[in-house]
Amino acid sequence: MSSKTVVVIGGGPGGLRAAHGVVEIGEKVVLIEQRGFLGGNPVAESYAGLTPHGEPAQPQIRQMIDLVISHPGADVRLGTEVTRMVGEPGAFTLSLRSDGLAQTVECGAVIIATGFGHFDPGRSTQMYGYYEFADVITQPDLEVMLSEHRLLRPSNGQPPERICFVQCVGSRDRQIGNEYCSKVCCGVASKEAIEIRRLLPGSKVFIFYIDMRMYGYWENEIYWPAQEQHHVQFVKGLITEVLPKGDRLLVRGEDTTMGRPMELLMDLVVLSVGMEPSSGTRQVAKLFGVRQNKYGFVDAPGAPLDPVSTDREGIFACGAALGPADLEDTVSSAAGAAVKAVGYLRSRSAAALS
Ligand SMILES: Cc1cc2nc3c(=O)[nH]c(=O)nc-3n(C[C@H](O)[C@H](O)[C@H](O)COP(=O)(O)OP(=O)(O)OC[C@H]3O[C@@H](n4cnc5c(N)ncnc54)[C@H](O)[C@@H]3O)c2cc1C
Ligand code: SF4
Repeated sequence: MSSKTVVVIGGGPGGLRAAHGVVEIGEKVVLIEQRGFLGGNPVAESYAGLTPHGEPAQPQIRQMIDLVISHPGADVRLGTEVTRMVGEPGAFTLSLRSDGLAQTVECGAVIIATGFGHFDPGRSTQMYGYYEFADVITQPDLEVMLSEHRLLRPSNGQPPERICFVQCVGSRDRQIGNEYCSKVCCGVASKEAIEIRRLLPGSKVFIFYIDMRMYGYWENEIYWPAQEQHHVQFVKGLITEVLPKGDRLLVRGEDTTMGRPMELLMDLVVLSVGMEPSSGTRQVAKLFGVRQNKYGFVDAPGAPLDPVSTDREGIFACGAALGPADLEDTVSSAAGAAVKAVGYLRSRSAAALS
């Protein structure tokens, strides 16, 4: 028998918005999250300020969580994973595993919101020395430090005076097979650079980029203020190597505007690592038999006009499970997926009654 419940898999910003969308329209939702807490990467990785205005991330995501957990139509299952799906569109049965316990849930439609993981900077770009030098960190590592309002060099506990960002680590790189742009790391680097300059006004901050990619509000609210008000130095250049020199790091590369080699000493190097499909996105896509694109993100064959329907009837997707996405993209696609999933269930019930 067909069910009017929607299952949302993944309790990050996308899954939370999708779950809230379903209950707002008046249907029931079961939200399944593999971790023991909700909030996705912004909570798991302790993001500092959120764009565009830098408000602390945790209270903002908390509001999204509260909207879902306080709603009587929402059933939230933490520490839970889907292990099997049987049935047909409109009447799926999902097997769940939670703390060794097996359960099942009936649903009419599914929304995949299993998000992204970070490119591992040790995988093919050892020349940046992430696993060798303590003062080479990633954007998410920096978020944790900024959320604690303190930025110190991991090597010696001193505040860094010269900090640089290396853009496009693991993105736009044919050699490793990730030709796509991760979309948010230019904006996030600029945001983090502003936060550093506020925290350490005497510091010098450089961003080495191939080209800066900003869209929507990121251009006017983040990129230009970073340059004009916070004096972050944007250098068009390719970084080829990071090496130790004394107690600092020597950053080597080419200034592509001037067409000449460059070498600069830094105290802290931040790698702007790209987004990849999370392992959960890959697993869930396989389990449900939905098509993935060549990078492993869930494919939406009707995009751009229908960016949330997968190639399997009754199964939708949203947020970074579909590809690199900022929060605005994520919650927009999540709201869209909620409407599509509920619309799908209602059209089936109406057809059954007529
Ligand atoms: C360093 C950094 C800073 C950022 N700052 C900003 C910012 O300031 N502004 C902005 O707009 N965007 C920002 N972003 C982008 C933002 O993080 C994403 O847009 C957002 O997290 C995407 O949400 P999501 O729910 O799709 O995915 P995620 O946040 O990845 O959440 C996915 C959830 O699904 C769960 N999951 C995965 N697999 C399974 C499974 N098999 N079963 C059950 N659950 C599963 C995960 O545990 C996780 O909770 C930033 C990104 C980075 C890397
Ligand atoms: S957003 Fe910027 S840093 Fe990230 S992949 Fe695209 S161009 Fe590179």
